[in-house]
Amino acid sequence: MNESSRLFAEAKKVIPGGVNSPVRAFRAVGRDPLFIAGGYKDVIEDADGNRYIDYVMSWGPLLFGHAKEEIVSAVAETVKRGLSFGAPTGRETALAEEICFATGAEMVRLVNSGTEACMSAIRLARGYTGRDKIIKFEGCYHGHSDGLLVKAGSGCLTGAMPDSAGVPAAYAAQTLVARYNDTESVKALFEANPGEIACVIAEPVAANMGVVPPEEGFLPSLRKLCDRYGALLIFDEVITGFRVAYGGAAERYGVLPDLFAFGKIVGGGMPLAAYAGRREIMRCVAPVGKVYQAGTLSGNPAAVAAGLKMLELIRERKDSIYPLLEEKGADLERAFRAAGVPVNRVGSLLSPFFAKAAPKSYEDVQRCDAHAFAAYFSRMLERGVYVAPSPFEAMFVSAEHTKDHIGKTCEAIAQACEGLAVGS
Ligand SMILES: *Cc1c(COP(=O)(O)O)cnc(C)c1O
Repeated sequence: MNESSRLFAEAKKVIPGGVNSPVRAFRAVGRDPLFIAGGYKDVIEDADGNRYIDYVMSWGPLLFGHAKEEIVSAVAETVKRGLSFGAPTGRETALAEEICFATGAEMVRLVNSGTEACMSAIRLARGYTGRDKIIKFEGCYHGHSDGLLVKAGSGCLTGAMPDSAGVPAAYAAQTLVARYNDTESVKALFEANPGEIACVIAEPVAANMGVVPPEEGFLPSLRKLCDRYGALLIFDEVITGFRVAYGGAAERYGVLPDLFAFGKIVGGGMPLAAYAGRREIMRCVAPVGKVYQAGTLSGNPAAVAAGLKMLELIRERKDSIYPLLEEKGADLERAFRAAGVPVNRVGSLLSPFFAKAAPKSYEDVQRCDAHAFAAYFSRMLERGVYVAPSPFEAMFVSAEHTKDHIGKTCEAIAQACEGLAVGS
């Protein structure tokens, strides 16, 4: 038994499924997970000393790869002066300013996870509008809070749990589910629930059912419908923020939401997330307003140091890194296409699909061949490439992926996809 499998067996005795987040258990690909010993730039090393080119990148945060020196030193310098105070520190303001500068948000509240950011943004939308119901999209994931687990997101989709046990039916009933890339389905819900809908929450690029980009006109139509019916538009940019453009999907597609949820990149690899938006709305948050939201470790100095350094590095280099990320993503896309495997890609975010065509909806996604994916995954691993262990996740390309490693990955893709393309 190798070291990863031994560690997994030990872990399963004291941690449900041996993991602290379900998709890590490799259930969708039918093998034991790798336990990770360390990482540097675009490479990770497992507990057995095997090295892999990494495209999970902690599920998105690591835009500059593992152990980015500037970020690590910023954290190291900070923690020497204490880990947590539960009192404000000056850098929190600097981080909020960076977020506003990049995205056009006017005020920011820092939290600890993307789940919290989405949950809090929704409470704020409800408090601001005085309405209870919300609209979310099938196949979009916004964290694991009650009321947002009414239809499957990534982890659930994989685990064949269409719903979560433990979510009260009464909560779920407050959430209305529309179809991604289907404006009419949103309109129908607004018309059926006049004056009751507080907000529409969307991943502006769906990335938790595999990558499904918004079709032309979809995001602008959400903006229009929200304005017409007096609801707020929330973009969950936990994945897309600072990734698909410096100003996230809002910049890339030219649609400004009322509220944003950020996570992943914004924390630089540490547990930090944020919700942000128009001043008039954000002023409803306590202690200024009546919407309560708090956190003992919110704005934690070490996490803020990582996030702030991350956003500073991005701002300094934004003119070069986004075109570079686009190029690397395009190289990988070409390799899949050459192997006959359809791909959806937005910049450095991409997913291959073992299907006849690239999906445009959650329905399309479900028709993909899960067995072919599992075979592809194992073959990639054998060739030293670590991709997400689920067909419903994105590949994350970082600014640190070298040309050489992208080239090696393209070769691995050609070999791993052989005979797996649907219809080949
Ligand atoms: C990861 C993710 C979340 C949840 O963030 P956590 O930090 O895991 O709680 C929310 N929304 C989207 C779009 C995500 O990808």
